[in-house]
Amino acid sequence: MGTLAELRTEALGCTRCALAPTRTQVVFGVGDPTAALMFIGEGPGRDEDLVGEPFVGRSGKLLDKLVHQELGLDRTSFYIANVVKCRPPGNRDPLPDEIASCRPYLEAQLDLIDPTVVVTLGNFSTRLLLGTTEGITRLRGRAYPFRGGHLVPTFHPAAALRGGAEVVAGMRADLIRAKRLLAGQTP
Ligand code: URA
Repeated sequence: MGTLAELRTEALGCTRCALAPTRTQVVFGVGDPTAALMFIGEGPGRDEDLVGEPFVGRSGKLLDKLVHQELGLDRTSFYIANVVKCRPPGNRDPLPDEIASCRPYLEAQLDLIDPTVVVTLGNFSTRLLLGTTEGITRLRGRAYPFRGGHLVPTFHPAAALRGGAEVVAGMRADLIRAKRLLAGQTP
């Protein structure tokens, strides 16, 4: 197993799937490579494709604010990445073969970072990592055993931007759950 920096270099040149020719940048992930806390979203949107960093648009700003308020952390002390590292054209959903091509990068990130708590953002990453078709509204509200640690599903911040106070309150509760697990407490 190489380093996270080596994996990133490999990903930046990736041509494994049909998203390679239309991307501006590969959005590998950012943050502390030894973080105990890792967030996983779906895939880059337009802003992320241009900047090369996950969650830099409006939903990312909301996520940063909530994480700062509930956990007192910024991007230097957690890690954030997506299931799919390249933007699907027009923000369409990633196709099964694109997800399959990209999955080894996510699994290797999880191996190398080895976070204690993974927070999945929205239906897409939650369903994929828990291997279920159940929806986020039913899945969130508790933690799941995951890779020797914990997985805490929460809403996607874009849903919070649309859904208002109730969704934001749910995200805050999930972040507090993640904080308790990071401190070794029961969720
Ligand atoms: N939505 C995601 O799931 N990931 C991003 O990086 C941006 C928006």
